[in-house]
Amino acid sequence: MQVPLLDMKAPYEELKDELDAAYARFMTSGWYVLGTQTQAFEEAYAGYCQVEHCVGVSSGLDALHLALRACDVGPGDEVLVPSNTYIATWLAVTYAGATVVPVEPDPRTYNLDPARIESAITPRTKAIMAVHLYGLPADMDPIMEAAQRHGLVVIEDNAQAQGARYKGRRTGSLGHLAAHSFYPAKNLGAYGEAGAVTTNNAAWAEKVRVLRNYGSQRKYYNEHKGFNARLDELQAAFLRVKLGCLDAWNDRRRQRAEQYMEGLADCPEITLPCVPSWAQPVWHQFVIRHPARDALQQRLTEQGIGTLIHYPIPPHRSEAYSEMGCGPGSFPIAEALAATVLSLPMGPHLTADQAAFVVERIRA
Ligand SMILES: *Cc1c(COP(=O)(O)O)cnc(C)c1O
Repeated sequence: MQVPLLDMKAPYEELKDELDAAYARFMTSGWYVLGTQTQAFEEAYAGYCQVEHCVGVSSGLDALHLALRACDVGPGDEVLVPSNTYIATWLAVTYAGATVVPVEPDPRTYNLDPARIESAITPRTKAIMAVHLYGLPADMDPIMEAAQRHGLVVIEDNAQAQGARYKGRRTGSLGHLAAHSFYPAKNLGAYGEAGAVTTNNAAWAEKVRVLRNYGSQRKYYNEHKGFNARLDELQAAFLRVKLGCLDAWNDRRRQRAEQYMEGLADCPEITLPCVPSWAQPVWHQFVIRHPARDALQQRLTEQGIGTLIHYPIPPHRSEAYSEMGCGPGSFPIAEALAATVLSLPMGPHLTADQAAFVVERIRA
């Protein structure tokens, strides 16, 4: 049996008729960037996230970057970022000209540790990036309380958690702004590049709207030095179709996650994901930890089971951020995670039989 980490073709097979019809409508529409499909998707996704505004953009990284620009984060400002995240979270801060200040995660949830935020705040701190890593919401209430005490803006990086809930509320509605990625492998994936910013702040939504389109509201009148970060009509049309099954597909991920949790519960060497009582995760990745991770990964590969490491090198240890001078041990929790995490096959089209096979092979 072959079990891919994520089956990228099955979604099309399931939704072929609707996606083909969306494509045909798009091809004959005569309008290809920022039009009725984008507007309809923005309205639908704002409703889904329980927020007032959604602005479609060209990627998750652009969404993070424009969200920072919208609330005036720039040179001289410090932004708290998780030490344990995909590097895009950091790059967006760098794009905005601000300085990243890494904060270690809670070693149980792998998400930003609210208890460590206070000591990282300085008079220059302007914002906090809260990442819902692997589809598990960060503990937002204490993060928002700390932000309130210090007058900071909180931006959620919701690239991995479309549809997740924190104390019953959707991620993407919990911070002051949220950035979403619709990269094909995300829970809500397009067929190319796409992203969005959500917020309840009308002025910030408008600023993102202007910045994504060359800083201009009225054609050829440029109020800001903007960017080309527009959403394609074709991707918006595909996303409208796929948004319709996001909840059902997240439920299927939950069933497979339960299977893994039960099947691997008594394996002494394996650390399973921790799900706090207030979290309803969407299992973008199902991540275990194992002290002999590399050997385990190799054995699974040999048996046709696809796995991946999210992520092998924390941003502070990457060459890209070598100027920070963070040697080994500077952020030990992030480094320990990078050395031991392993993502198992997961997705809405992973079958019960496949998950059972993965469990059986790991136990063996
Ligand atoms: C995927 C991802 C991004 C970036 O999204 P793109 O659409 O690839 O630009 C940002 N943050 C996190 C946590 C991600 O997983």
